[in-house]
Amino acid sequence: MNPIIKTINGPVVTAKNAGKLKIREMVSVGKLKLIGEVISVEGELATIEVYEDTSGLSSGEEVISTGRPLSVKLGPGLLKNMFDGIERPLLKIQDKHGAFIPQGIGFENLDDEKKWDVEIKVSKGDQIHKGDIYATIMETKTIEHRLMSSFDGTVIDVKASGSYTLEDTIVKLSTKEGEKELKLYQYWPVRVPRPVKKIRPLELLLNTGQRVLDIFLPIAKGGTVAIPGGFGTGKTMLQHQLAQYSDADIIIYIGCGERGNEMTQVLEEFPELIDPNTGYGLMERTILIANTSNMPVAAREASIYTGITIAEYFRDMGYHVALMADSTSRWAEALREISGRLEEIPAEEGYPAYLGSRLSQFYERAGYFTNLNGSEGSVTIIGAVSPSGGDFSEPVTENTRRSVNVFLGLDRKLAYSRHYPAINWLTSYSNYLDTIKSYYIEKTGIDIIAIRNELMNVLLKEEEIKSILMLVGKDALSDSQKNILDVAELIRVGFLQQNAYNDIDKYVPLEKQIRMLEVINNYLKHSSNAIKNGVSYKDLYNSNLINEITQMKYTIANDNLEKFINLNNEIENYFISLEGGIN
Ligand code: ADP
Ligand code: MG
Repeated sequence: MNPIIKTINGPVVTAKNAGKLKIREMVSVGKLKLIGEVISVEGELATIEVYEDTSGLSSGEEVISTGRPLSVKLGPGLLKNMFDGIERPLLKIQDKHGAFIPQGIGFENLDDEKKWDVEIKVSKGDQIHKGDIYATIMETKTIEHRLMSSFDGTVIDVKASGSYTLEDTIVKLSTKEGEKELKLYQYWPVRVPRPVKKIRPLELLLNTGQRVLDIFLPIAKGGTVAIPGGFGTGKTMLQHQLAQYSDADIIIYIGCGERGNEMTQVLEEFPELIDPNTGYGLMERTILIANTSNMPVAAREASIYTGITIAEYFRDMGYHVALMADSTSRWAEALREISGRLEEIPAEEGYPAYLGSRLSQFYERAGYFTNLNGSEGSVTIIGAVSPSGGDFSEPVTENTRRSVNVFLGLDRKLAYSRHYPAINWLTSYSNYLDTIKSYYIEKTGIDIIAIRNELMNVLLKEEEIKSILMLVGKDALSDSQKNILDVAELIRVGFLQQNAYNDIDKYVPLEKQIRMLEVINNYLKHSSNAIKNGVSYKDLYNSNLINEITQMKYTIANDNLEKFINLNNEIENYFISLEGGIN
């Protein structure tokens, strides 16, 4: 006898006669055949989280086991696609059923009918191991999809390269557990991290084209990042910029519990965008997962796991993957809602006591690895956090802070004054400075991070001077202090601020970022020296020169970096003429 529904409480359903169900097993619930996951079994009573709207379910209806855990289907057709939290293709569903996903459409995911051009990579008699690549497919214009074996075994039969659908068996293996068929896909349970061979140290920069990140708060490939910020401070905008411009091979963008129109915007915007690294459309390397505020709350909880599992799958192929989740607060709220319905004892602000461990388990799936097949790949996780009122002491922000190495605190005051990205340089931090220091030295021969630290020091001094200024007024400041204020403004406006709506400034290659950094450092060195040598601030301050430096982000095009030579010459000449004046 199958288990039958006992109670229904929103997304939480209990079933009796359910002693045979296993925890984390995926089940089909009721006549509507809704997708659910068993979250506890006590004696004959099971509790099930249902990933679809449960209205219309009745007690007494059957729950049918699928015999496998909640899993994603991994294969070609993921890229350029958009899925809900349990990997159902939203656009295809929309074509068939309209704007709302109807109940009970089942486990639809990848397109079974599409034929793919498959290149076979193994021969009869080959020994292959878990993770080894047995075939490849150009899934999009830029990304080669690599099919990886789930088994150890010997190839006993293999098809010729050619055109196949997902369900076609292209390789047969003889394994210790008997004969296994390899098709164009595999399943993986979303809550289990995919295994790797070795953890590697993080040693590469995730190049984002954003100066405040690449130079001041660098993100390592395989790193963990949180972007907390109140409403309207620019979290979504920053996530979009990272999705567009960062030099990851694969982007997984999870719209999690935010308003539906934001995802619509993503859907309209992204297909138009060009990847600055390849020149092809951005969607060629992108997968969207959307569980917006109007969609079932339990599937929102699942969307994070679906996303990270897909990320690990592409990592295993040897790619650098960046995953953005906007917003993990809405995910935590889903956790809270389900926990409430389970009548668990709430901890801080009603969140379950396991909020922190769930968050850290998620971020722990980031990293840079040697994969089972010997390739190298990484998953970088960048989660937006939306504390209400911008109060970073609330539980989701606090717990996230403990799990990440880069903390990019967005600041309402900066956003109001239209300093974008509104990342507060004083409260934010990156724990990857040492790693990235070596990266820069190796790549450019210049200790970029040492220069960065000097400029950061100027910003810290600015804060001190500002507090003195409040007490005594500008006239009481020394010449050197006045100069620090000028240089600090130069750093803030000329470097940290970056205009997302300006064609030249929205994405800046590293070479230009470094040149800009050097120009500002050059000015800092010369102006400090001049003051030490007795030049007075009044004579030193040249609004034209400062202006020209501030505007270099707009006036020097990304492909015209020779112009920096002129600017540096101008600075040299100006200070030579100044100091000449003293003698
Ligand atoms: P949040 O997701 O934190 O609520 P958004 O990312 O939607 O905030 O940003 C709100 C608004 O702030 C945007 O619509 C845009 O006008 C402005 N904004 C945010 N970041 C930038 C930026 N880098 N450049 C220019 N404007 C920005
Ligand atoms: Mg937002």
